[in-house]
Amino acid sequence: MKKRTFFAVLILFLIFLNSMILIASLVILNSKLSAVRERCLAEHYVIASSLIGDMQALEQRGIPAAESMDRLMRTYTHYLQGREDGLAVAFSGEWIYRSALPREVPNPPPDTGHGQERLVCLEDGTPPVLLVYGSFPAPWQDYGLLYMGNLDEAVSTWRHTKNILFLAGALVMPVMAFFLFQFLNLLFRPLAQISSASARIAEGNYKSRLPVQGKDEVASVAHNFNLMAQQVEAQILQLQDIARQKQQFIDNFSHELRIPLTAIYGYAEYLQKASVPEEDRYECTQFIMSECSRLQSMAYQLLDMALLRNSAPEEEDCDVAELFAGSEKLMHVRAAEKGIRLSYAMPRSLLLRGNMDQLSILLNNLIDNALKASPPESEVRVRARPEGADIIIEVEDHGIGMEPEQLSHIKEAFYRVDKGRSRALGGTGLGLSICEGIAQLHQAELTFSSRKGEGTTARLRFFRG
Ligand code: ADP
Repeated sequence: MKKRTFFAVLILFLIFLNSMILIASLVILNSKLSAVRERCLAEHYVIASSLIGDMQALEQRGIPAAESMDRLMRTYTHYLQGREDGLAVAFSGEWIYRSALPREVPNPPPDTGHGQERLVCLEDGTPPVLLVYGSFPAPWQDYGLLYMGNLDEAVSTWRHTKNILFLAGALVMPVMAFFLFQFLNLLFRPLAQISSASARIAEGNYKSRLPVQGKDEVASVAHNFNLMAQQVEAQILQLQDIARQKQQFIDNFSHELRIPLTAIYGYAEYLQKASVPEEDRYECTQFIMSECSRLQSMAYQLLDMALLRNSAPEEEDCDVAELFAGSEKLMHVRAAEKGIRLSYAMPRSLLLRGNMDQLSILLNNLIDNALKASPPESEVRVRARPEGADIIIEVEDHGIGMEPEQLSHIKEAFYRVDKGRSRALGGTGLGLSICEGIAQLHQAELTFSSRKGEGTTARLRFFRG
């Protein structure tokens, strides 16, 4: 592109420059020829007038002018000395006098019948000449005077000037080419930068950006390019994150399957032996049954997660009081078993848009986690309140709490802060993943605040604005 523009501009400039030089030289030639023409006409007039006077004087003295022409013309020929011009006098269609002429003269033109009118013509050749011919007024109409102006000097001066102009043009060309090249470099620099930045992005360097200078069109292109690069980078990071989460899910899932299956296989192998004491047999089957039940609940939870991903829930108006009442019925017994006080509170009737079944799963999971984390005699509070246009539901416990680092992972599938403890309590590490899925389906935000050893608050914000 740059090369093509360079050559195109250079050729156009070359054509323009040479045309200008040609036009200028033609103007110079024209003005020189005009000057010579004026001079020749003036000389012709002066000599013709004076010659007629001389001829009259001779004729009065009875001497025929035609016979004394050589003598008469000597003065004028002398007058022209030092110039390259020449004179010739015609009588009755014949040259009767010719000075030293720069060129051979053609025959005198026949009487034009135009009286005093003079003929002016340019004769090309070597040397080029300007001919001015005019016949004399009556009674001398048989006579005519030719003034031959030599154009050699005018034409060669013009040729010289023209050559100098073309030479100057030829010298200007490399200078012009140099400055044009520098200018195009400057003009095309942003394009070169865009090209190299896109090449870097194509190679995987998504952080590559363009410098934005000024407020012109180039700056706007650079700005838009940077926005595009930013979007591409964000999308790539998101895709990488999704891929990483998927891989982590697969790794965790295979790990979660392998451990109980290995243990179940080991216990089953042990049971195969004939001499297993009755007490051990009971313990083994108990373990196998509890692990199978955990795997079963994991399978159900995974199914729940798949369903959440693939189907939109049927929405309805859900009364929060109804949601709390259903949860209380279910969780009350579990809380009582652990000796924990479970309380529900809400200031007034609140309505949520969503799916009651899914909202129950979400709330009960959060309460279940709170109960698991709380010591006996403590309290778990569930409360709902409006906040601006939004509705907030909180589950607060005074249990073991979590470190900030642990808090940032708890919504990941299979993540458990204390694996042994969670396993003993029948946890799979999928509960909060499911909660997050349900919250997202309801355009709600699920957040946690927690302090190690002090307790945790799970907060759901349902946006209604
Ligand atoms: P689990 O099936 O183990 O309960 P979850 O996804 O529900 O899995 O929770 C992930 C982990 O987050 C739990 O194993 C637990 O360690 C931690 N956790 C969740 N809620 C609380 C809470 N209220 N207090 C302390 N830890 C919690």
